[in-house]
Amino acid sequence: MVIYEGKAVFEGIAIGKIYVYTKQEQAVKRYKIDDVEEEKKRYGQAKEKTIEQLKALYDKAVKEVGEHGAEIFMAHQLMVDDDDFVESVESIIETEGVNAEYAVATTGDNFFKMFSEMEEEYFRGRAADIKDITERILNALSGAGQGGIVSDEPVIVVADDLAPSETVQMDKDKILSFVTVHGSANSHTSILAKTMSIPALIGCPVPLSDEVNGLMAVVDGYEGKLYVDPDTEVLAKKKELLLKEEEKKNLLERLKGKENITLDGQKINLYANIGNTKDLGLVLQNDAGGIGLFRSEFIYLGSDHYPTEEEQFVIYRQVAQTLAGKKVIIRTLDIGADKQADYFELPKEENPAMGLRAIRICLTRPEVFKTQLRAILRASAFGNISIMFPMIISVEEVKKIKVIVEEVKKELDDVGAEYDKNIELGIMIETPAAVMVADELAEEVDFFSVGTNDLTQYTLAIDRQNQSLDEFYDSHHPAIMRMLQMIADAAHRHGAWAGICGELGADLSLTKEFLAMGYDELSVSPGRILPIRKTVIETNVSEYKKETGR
Ligand code: PEP
Ligand code: MG
Repeated sequence: MVIYEGKAVFEGIAIGKIYVYTKQEQAVKRYKIDDVEEEKKRYGQAKEKTIEQLKALYDKAVKEVGEHGAEIFMAHQLMVDDDDFVESVESIIETEGVNAEYAVATTGDNFFKMFSEMEEEYFRGRAADIKDITERILNALSGAGQGGIVSDEPVIVVADDLAPSETVQMDKDKILSFVTVHGSANSHTSILAKTMSIPALIGCPVPLSDEVNGLMAVVDGYEGKLYVDPDTEVLAKKKELLLKEEEKKNLLERLKGKENITLDGQKINLYANIGNTKDLGLVLQNDAGGIGLFRSEFIYLGSDHYPTEEEQFVIYRQVAQTLAGKKVIIRTLDIGADKQADYFELPKEENPAMGLRAIRICLTRPEVFKTQLRAILRASAFGNISIMFPMIISVEEVKKIKVIVEEVKKELDDVGAEYDKNIELGIMIETPAAVMVADELAEEVDFFSVGTNDLTQYTLAIDRQNQSLDEFYDSHHPAIMRMLQMIADAAHRHGAWAGICGELGADLSLTKEFLAMGYDELSVSPGRILPIRKTVIETNVSEYKKETGR
């Protein structure tokens, strides 16, 4: 038995034979050609064929991993057709009078170098994509087929690194796990592994030789280890773990498509929290009923300038379209405190958690706020979007916000832009002040979503960032529990609905309690949806209420 350590990018156990995947590297020869135009035409045809292949891969990936996971093949199509790339290939063919293969390989090498030397990590990451499309065009020129896995049984795929087009064209039923010698945690391989929910290791120095090919192995995505030719003891232990994991997964898997309804008929919506569009695959995979919290500030945090209306619109539209009519609650900018972006030039504060943050920034910088609202409203024409405002403390704030929303709607009307005229507006309840005036607030909005992370911080006066206060932090504190009941009741008294989108919403020991309190929605990280559904389905709320003396 030999053990190799790597970095786990997805948890889980895989047991099976190793399949060493090697690229079909093209040995490119340089030779002179007689007819430049004919050679350019040959390149043009290979380029078109490559784009066709990528379109087919895109369609395949959409079915397997959802629109977001498939996006890379859209990007590759654009790269194959990129003016700079095409011009470079054609110019080499023309000026040197050489074959298309050589011109493509040289251009690919040059672009690869250029991208790998760039400072920004994002662009360095694109170097692998250049390599990928270059090989694809070379394959098209030589008439070689697309690679894949040749095996009768599911295998642990071990490779140096895997390009997105390689992973997608592999038959998913044949893959138990990915293990790569190189690759980054943000690589598309790890994203795909996560979306496929299979264990994967990167940076694992396993030799890619015939000697390991076909050997029995175990991938432990908890420990980040690959056991090649495991001894009987290890194998037995891991088999037991795998069995337990599969039992759990099967149970949860069977809950997909099921309603979130209790034994006595009470329904609850289970939505997902997301930070960016990368999470959309998981939202679909875990059968979320919608998105209950899109933390839009991550768009701002990932940018070095105020994101433009257009930049934001494209993102919100993508989310709305991917969710295809299911609810998407976009929370407006919640920046400040622990979430800082330099270009906001926020003042240094004594108590940032109680400082200029979230809605306070939006109300003092109306142009920033309006840009975001315009983008969200425009995107609302493409799906079922609601808007939610964070860190509310008063009815006056909500009234001011509503005036601004109306102004933006009027601006859109003036230019004939489409948007959902009845878009739902809601607020986060995450300050004790908002709890105390919840009745008045509920008259102003369509829904409440409780931000228990901040509500707990402000109620217990415990900085949520300060680990040394953990022993004092009681997320089940009776003050919080009573507030949660008050919030749901206030919402319902005024015809609004109530949800919870803070971490507490995913606390399985409280699911029954939230049902008993009458919550209409829980929004949690995607992986928590099915376990909560299981609890909901097994709960009898009336009995629970009796047991707890309600
Ligand atoms: C919360 O405060 O509970 C919440 C959901 O918002 P965030 O964690 O983004 O502050
Ligand atoms: Mg919060």
